[in-house]
Amino acid sequence: MIIAMDGPAGVGKSTVGGLVAKKLGYKFINTGEMYRALTWKALESGADLDDHEAVLALAKRASWEFKPIEEGGATLKTFLDGVPVTGQIREERVSVNSSRIAANPGVRKFLSKLQRELGEPGGIVMEGRDITTHVFPDADVKIYLDASPEERATRRHRQLKASGGDADRSAILAAILKRDLNDLKREINPLKQAPDALVIDSTHLTMREVADLILRRVRREAKHAR
Ligand code: C5P
Repeated sequence: MIIAMDGPAGVGKSTVGGLVAKKLGYKFINTGEMYRALTWKALESGADLDDHEAVLALAKRASWEFKPIEEGGATLKTFLDGVPVTGQIREERVSVNSSRIAANPGVRKFLSKLQRELGEPGGIVMEGRDITTHVFPDADVKIYLDASPEERATRRHRQLKASGGDADRSAILAAILKRDLNDLKREINPLKQAPDALVIDSTHLTMREVADLILRRVRREAKHAR
């Protein structure tokens, strides 16, 4: 099966996607990593992020690989030119600039193709902003995961504090709202709910409860397909 999931920033798509994939013995891919990896590459190379041709050329020149960091892991991480860019792509400068790269039509076409090649064999959970609407509009299971911006900011704040960081919750909320706006108002493949997606509001749910709702939907679809 192909399980596609979309939703706004900081809603827990990766945590939930990882839980679901593990339970099913599937692979999990966070497509935001690909946009982030290219943003990091463009920043490192000093490219003008708004020069669509130059950024697309960088994407095409790079070697892209997706594989688990640890042997047998369910989560496929992005390797650019042989380097796992897991840490680099979480830098603040990457977060704030990734939606500029994501507005580049050529880049979206290039990455969507990579995503389809990865997902087509099935046995995959893939999440992002346009997976249910554009990359896999015919996915077996489509999920739109949502939560209030306040709750998303609170979760992120808690996470940062737990890992020893110190962050201002209102700054986190402002950054989340800005990213939402960029992703929602983008001209091509903006974030939106697919008409036939199961919409889950996780504001008052744990990640485990969300994963269980998705697994229930997967079982139902599997029964229908038989
Ligand atoms: O998921 P994450 O927040 O890490 O993604 C980083 C950025 O990449 C998003 O803000 C969005 O602009 C872009 N993105 C996208 N389409 C996807 C996945 C991510 O435009 N399928």
